[in-house]
Amino acid sequence: MDATLEDELKRDALAFGAQDLVDEIHDEAAAWVDERHPWGGEGDEPPERVSAYLAVWWQRVDQERAARVGTLVERTDGTWAMVGPARCPHGHPLGPRRVLIGWAPCRCRGHHTWTCQVDTADGELCGASVYHPEPGARCRLVGIG
Ligand SMILES: [Zn+2]
Ligand SMILES: [Zn+2]
Repeated sequence: MDATLEDELKRDALAFGAQDLVDEIHDEAAAWVDERHPWGGEGDEPPERVSAYLAVWWQRVDQERAARVGTLVERTDGTWAMVGPARCPHGHPLGPRRVLIGWAPCRCRGHHTWTCQVDTADGELCGASVYHPEPGARCRLVGIG
C-alpha cells in the first residue's frame, strides 16, 4: 500500500535500533494484526489490516524517537543525524521544511531547539518550540522566560 511511509518507518527503526528493532516491531505489528484482522493470505491483503500494521509501526517508531530526541543516530546511508521530535507542542507533525532547527544558549550550556514552521488555520506561523534537554527550573534561555 503506502510503501513510502512503510520504508520511512523502517529506515527510522534501523537508525534507532538496527535490525533487531525492525524485527521486534515487525513481530509485534504482525501479532497485532493477526489477532485483530485475521487474513488467510488469499487475494489482496485487506486495507484495514495494512493500516493497522502501519499504525503499530508508527506508534513504536514514535516511541523510540521520543526516547532519543537530541541524540545522534547513524542513518542507513552512513550519515549521522540528530533525532528531532515528531510533533510540536501543538501537535503539528514536524518534518523536512516544517521545522527550524536551532540552538538556544542557556546558563546550563544550551538547548537544542526545534521550532514549528507549520501554518496554522488562521494563516499564522505556529512557531512553537521543543527544547532538548527540557529547560529546568534554573534555566534562563536567551530570549525566553
Ligand atoms: Zn506547530
Ligand atoms: Zn538550560
